[in-house]
Amino acid sequence: MVNGDRLIEKLKMEIEEKILPFVEKPGRYIGNEFNVVVKPNAKIRIALCFPDVYEIGMSYIGFKILYNIVNKLEWASAERVYAPWVDAEEIMRKEKIPLFSLETKRPLKFFDVVGFTFQYELHYTNVLNMLDLGGIPIFSSERNDDDPIVIAGGPVSCNPEPMSAFIDAFLLGDGETLLPKFLELVYEMKKNGASRDEILLTAGRTLQGVYVPRFYEPVYENGIYKGIKKLDDSLPLPIKRNVVPELKPEYYPDKPIVPLIEVVHDRFQLEIMRGCTQGCRFCNAGMIYRPVRERSVDDLINETRQVIENTGYDEMSFVSLSTSDYSLLPELMDRNYKLVKEKHVIPSFPSLRPQTYTEGIAKFIREGGTSGLTFAPEAGTERLRRVINKQSSEEDFYRAVEIAIDYGWRLVKLYFMMGLPTETYEDLDGILRIAENVVKIARRKKVYNMEVHVSVSPFSPKAHTPFQWERQNSIEELLEKARYLRERNKCRSIKLDIRDPRVTTLETILGRGDRRISNVIYSAWKKGAKFDAWTDKMNFDLWMEAMQENGLKVEDYTREFGKDEVFPWDHIFMGVLKKFLWRDRQKAYKEAMIPDCRPEDICHACGACDFKTIKMLIRSQIDKTNSQSDTTSEVVKIGEDAIFVDRSNFKENNRQVKTYSYRMKYTKEGYLRFISHLDIVRLFNRIFRKSGLNVAYTQGFHPLPKFSFSPPLQIGFTSISEYLDFELVENLEPEEIKNRLIQNLPDGMRIIEIVRIEKQSKSLDSQINLFEYKVYFNSNDLAEKITSFISESEILIQKAGSNGKIKLINLRKYVKDIFVENDGFRFRLMRDENGSVPRVDLVIEKILDLDKKEVKKIKVERTGQFIFRNGIAIDPIDEVENKIGVFYEEGNLYQHEGQRNAYSSS
Ligand code: SF4
Repeated sequence: MVNGDRLIEKLKMEIEEKILPFVEKPGRYIGNEFNVVVKPNAKIRIALCFPDVYEIGMSYIGFKILYNIVNKLEWASAERVYAPWVDAEEIMRKEKIPLFSLETKRPLKFFDVVGFTFQYELHYTNVLNMLDLGGIPIFSSERNDDDPIVIAGGPVSCNPEPMSAFIDAFLLGDGETLLPKFLELVYEMKKNGASRDEILLTAGRTLQGVYVPRFYEPVYENGIYKGIKKLDDSLPLPIKRNVVPELKPEYYPDKPIVPLIEVVHDRFQLEIMRGCTQGCRFCNAGMIYRPVRERSVDDLINETRQVIENTGYDEMSFVSLSTSDYSLLPELMDRNYKLVKEKHVIPSFPSLRPQTYTEGIAKFIREGGTSGLTFAPEAGTERLRRVINKQSSEEDFYRAVEIAIDYGWRLVKLYFMMGLPTETYEDLDGILRIAENVVKIARRKKVYNMEVHVSVSPFSPKAHTPFQWERQNSIEELLEKARYLRERNKCRSIKLDIRDPRVTTLETILGRGDRRISNVIYSAWKKGAKFDAWTDKMNFDLWMEAMQENGLKVEDYTREFGKDEVFPWDHIFMGVLKKFLWRDRQKAYKEAMIPDCRPEDICHACGACDFKTIKMLIRSQIDKTNSQSDTTSEVVKIGEDAIFVDRSNFKENNRQVKTYSYRMKYTKEGYLRFISHLDIVRLFNRIFRKSGLNVAYTQGFHPLPKFSFSPPLQIGFTSISEYLDFELVENLEPEEIKNRLIQNLPDGMRIIEIVRIEKQSKSLDSQINLFEYKVYFNSNDLAEKITSFISESEILIQKAGSNGKIKLINLRKYVKDIFVENDGFRFRLMRDENGSVPRVDLVIEKILDLDKKEVKKIKVERTGQFIFRNGIAIDPIDEVENKIGVFYEEGNLYQHEGQRNAYSSS
């Protein structure tokens, strides 16, 4: 074993012993998920770093794509790294544990390339924190040939300057083709002994989309930014982003990683297209991802089928900037509908536009059980919507709301902005008027429980948009507008949520910043800024101190810019021409709209297409529709949209079907001990689906698989005795079920036995009332401590009741037996007549007279769960087959083993 491998092995132990037992969510740090890729023999390794916690990073589709593409290369490996939450960071710093990847627990500094995605400006301090925790010099200029090359991409990189001091190379635009080329170049050049500067210079020269800030120098005159000059003639200026002409099916993983713990978007994300040409003038994504590239329906259906089979996901979402603009949406929904109904998958649309919201879409989503519906009118009046080029009208919106209410929605979420260019108080009144009209429509339809959640975000001028020249309202102006809205909202059904204008101000500073902002980010981080995207963690005063220390004023970045001023991002060409943006801004002030260039096929010459390889890819214009609808389908027509809905499936699902009941005994060991009970429930749902077992579902609006679990196990404890009752709609032999399941179990889970059972009228949880635990702890005075515990008749502890009142309970009465063994001791806990049982760690604390922290270090295993009835304890797996030979008497559990010392209170 070489030194590096030894270090990694040591690190694995330290993570398990020093971090996982002591943090709020250990599941964030264990990896070990379904479909993880580990490549021990890779020649080049990249750490894909997301600068926020696991639950947020795992929801980002971009990394799933890059992880898939890199790991498909025989010579390369991609692993994932997320920002540790503050509790884990504290331990890591104290114990000197470096930041590590989830796949192999490899320290960040052991990678060849460390790649961050910049999805949001307020992640920047986390990037510095992760580099620091990973043992990598924070400033690019301080890194040497032994350090990894630090790269970054993602939408916020379209103005790379604020982070230019920390990043060696930015990869701008679509990463699907650029990242493999970059890794290949690093691999080949490193093999030939090239230095880091040589590699970076070659990448900057030869790969479109690579920007290496150190080879460019900004020019200031009297403190005013005048542009950038290149330090090597062979480098490009401007630097053009990379664009893929087509979203090929091979970019997308057919086996994406499935998290073991709940994440923000815990579902299969199907990217149906990239780019948006609606032309909203405030929207950065709508400009930098042009042109629109739609994927084919066949590709999307194939991917859906494969991913559902390979992951067991029961929810999916259609991902794009404007899903309802997908040109073959009716066909996609029709074909997808059959698939999702058959597989019990819930579909959702994250981005809907009112003008394309139809009864068909409402029906499609509603069948999936989605409870809330979201629209983004953005502005309160038609006038202001013309200014921002928001294409949908108020009539479209009210029509969509009527449909939504008819189809059962009782919650509508609305997104607006305030502080937009030319905004007046009349526009703010319009926000409330629209929300009130939704409530009125509902009441007219005799719906009195309608809720309208209105979210208002202050406008922040974004780079590469027609509004990049605009001024951001001051914090005081925005606070006054927020007060105005709150005071005028008199309707109880309308809930107003107004974003903190200080957050927006910071976004604007970091989003529009020049290279001087690098020092501000560094100063803020040194002062303790991190997780700025979390409202309870962002400290605005600290950022203001950092600005002041660096001699910079907020107004320098929030002010209006002149027509001929040079922006710090002008040397980056993200596809849309500055002259187009200026022209479009002028139109905004004339309240003139420009239509989407897609349906009308009108080009506004924005610059994104070269009309040779890079052009709009609209499937309805290039693919023949290939509807799979048959005679059982019904066409629901609204306006020009047609959605085919297969009615035969509804009947199937409403039918009562015969079910077959089984009980399983399984283990929860290894890293799985850090997964909560709720996560185990979700995990089993996926395991059964992946195994192709047809689980019976409950009836009702939100059908759930018919599972019944034994009582929850405390996080951190292993178990060799967990149980699950389940029902299938097919009559399979237990051995076949076991064989199918074992292929899909995560590490740490073993199936001990599966047996048939009668249909149960009571849940497993309510039947099991006796538990046995093994505590791996030894000390000279262990026997003495146990004797002392046993001799007490009353050990009182405080417990909060369901009404919140604290009551005293006698912990001693629950502990039935304690057995001393060579490597520790075992004890049994009995539920009382109300089904209550104390926390196991509390019992151990009292037996051993240790504090909580000490107890967390001890290995504890649940070794048995029993149904205690008429004086005998029965293993639930034996109970159903009436195997008398394994029935146990209370107080006599290990009598047959002879060697044990039993301390029994019974
Ligand atoms: S170049 Fe023309 S067709 Fe292409 S995205 Fe821009 S406006 Fe649309």
